[in-house]
Amino acid sequence: MKTQNILQNPTELKSEVWRWADHIGVEVHEVHIRQMRRKWASISTNGRLTLNTDLLHLPETLTELVIVHELVHLLVPNHGKLFKGYMSAYLPDWEERQKCLKEGVTSGF
Ligand SMILES: [Zn+2]
Repeated sequence: MKTQNILQNPTELKSEVWRWADHIGVEVHEVHIRQMRRKWASISTNGRLTLNTDLLHLPETLTELVIVHELVHLLVPNHGKLFKGYMSAYLPDWEERQKCLKEGVTSGF
């Protein structure tokens, strides 16, 4: 696990999105970082990703979880079995991270 939280930097956060998109093999066309009320992030089917500015204050492992979650939605639109399969493939400890994310905050994504 990385110790430095480079993802608190907006530029780095965006780079991380491109890195993951490349890794997963999905096309992301735009990345926006802005304030969102009830969500950590959202993605549209045409590859427009919006990230909550609050992510800049989260531990890197949780930010990574949010990014991967949204990008996997480009492959699977729901949270079914297939979605979980992809999550486990890319982030084997995603369920543990998700628990951490939900502990402090009740935001959905
Ligand atoms: Zn989702």
